[in-house]
Amino acid sequence: MNASKLVFSDDGDNFRIISVDNQQDVLVVYVQSTTQSAVCPNCCITSKRIHSYYTRKITDLPVFGKTSRIILRSRKFYCHQDECPFKIFTERFESHFRPYKRRTERLESKIRQLGLLAGGRPAQRICTILSIPTSDTTILRLIEKCDFSPAKGVTAIGVDDWAYKKRKSYGSILVNLHTGKVIDLLPDREQETLRKWLQERPEIEVMSRDRYSNYRKAITLGAPQSIQVTDRWHLLKNLSEAVQKVLIRHYSKATALLANKQLRVDDQQIAENQSTLSENRSSPDSAHGGIRLKRFEQLKELQKKGYSIRAMARHLCMHRQTVKNYLDMETLPRKSQCKINPLEKFFTHIKKRMEEEPSILITTLWQELRTQGYKGAYSTFSEGLKFYGIRVGKKAGFTKELPNHGAATFKTSSAAIWFLSDQQNLWDDQRNIIRELCKSSKELNKTFILVQSFRKIMAEKSGDTKLREWIEKSSTSGLKEIASFAKGLLADCPAVENALTLPWSNGPVEGNVNRLKMIKRQMYGRAGFDLLRKRVVYAPS
Ligand SMILES: [Zn+2]
Repeated sequence: MNASKLVFSDDGDNFRIISVDNQQDVLVVYVQSTTQSAVCPNCCITSKRIHSYYTRKITDLPVFGKTSRIILRSRKFYCHQDECPFKIFTERFESHFRPYKRRTERLESKIRQLGLLAGGRPAQRICTILSIPTSDTTILRLIEKCDFSPAKGVTAIGVDDWAYKKRKSYGSILVNLHTGKVIDLLPDREQETLRKWLQERPEIEVMSRDRYSNYRKAITLGAPQSIQVTDRWHLLKNLSEAVQKVLIRHYSKATALLANKQLRVDDQQIAENQSTLSENRSSPDSAHGGIRLKRFEQLKELQKKGYSIRAMARHLCMHRQTVKNYLDMETLPRKSQCKINPLEKFFTHIKKRMEEEPSILITTLWQELRTQGYKGAYSTFSEGLKFYGIRVGKKAGFTKELPNHGAATFKTSSAAIWFLSDQQNLWDDQRNIIRELCKSSKELNKTFILVQSFRKIMAEKSGDTKLREWIEKSSTSGLKEIASFAKGLLADCPAVENALTLPWSNGPVEGNVNRLKMIKRQMYGRAGFDLLRKRVVYAPS
């Protein structure tokens, strides 16, 4: 086999390897062109008259674990055309060694791919491991130089927003729904930007989006030929938020009822795994009125005095929406991430035992609770008693009020999700809570029936025939939260109908937003838009 074919593959006949120098870390290959003539790059006339020789040093992909370097003996030729301003020119090797380049094309392409995949500095470290000499700035420069041209001819596209900085500035991401690959990023989420982008692509047939109004308008104007589909996940999320609001209105009555029936979701295990007493103590949301509860009580007092929402918000430094939410509540629901201390489950027993036997020892009490299923260690238990102000022994008594059990039977956010779920997939105690809630109030029962029929429409993909009927029923149901959700659907009805009928989903877009976030954070927030865009769109996957 011709050795030059090994180095230059199909182009092997045009080069001759003069010698190979096997050094410590570098393999140096001396190369010369075999062609007799060269073409002037200006006038394109062939010349055979050599002016002089010079050498070029070019780095190539590493071989046998060593950096490889090509020393090219290159020639300069005379150009004989009188009218050509180039009197002397150098021979060109476009496919391997571009003019002025110190790296072969194939090496640059690999470095660029590594850069797109890992970012400047990590790619530089990988290159060092692979014996490719380069720097992080070189890698970034190579990425910067490559042209960006988003794919055309895609017929189904999903769009969503992503945050440069949450609540401050946003961009948009466009994903091919057939392949799940990102097509392009837009620097903002303005209507105008997306509209222009869409107008250049008349081939689009399906656009999947969330319910953000800028996107809706942009698609209506920029791609009027396309079918719009909203995102099912956001529909469910909005509906569950509406259900949660209904639940919050009924919260205090419902929890009292459930507490009487001793219904409770057993999250003792979760609580033991995730929260320790010391965390609970510092938590502002602990059962003994943290800052949150205090503010809630202040708010209720201001409400009695007849303050306006705006005035209350200003006075307590809260957001107006939070004030509005709190006004609807009679008691403050447990915050969703706040777990129930496993000890709380045993308060009734502790109280009973202390009344029966006032001088009971902590050890005895602990051993008894262990047999009843308490899993904490002795030290955890005694610390827990101290935390709740329960004193055992000679000075036995309760120095603090015990937390209200009624307030801890369920979280409104979880219950809202149970309302929306297929009841067969729930645990028994979750299903029981839903059943009791529905029994306890006509409104909750009505909510449950409506929500379940919405879920059924979604599961059966029968939006085209049944959605309008559902909206009609919800609007006249007398449930203001559900009616307002239905009103929102009406404003965007064709797209919602499509979402509940067609198989398109915004899932691939959400997945790519996650990937984008990962890339963004890898670059520690230093990424400019152009670099981020190229990395998200072009990184090999
Ligand atoms: Zn010429």
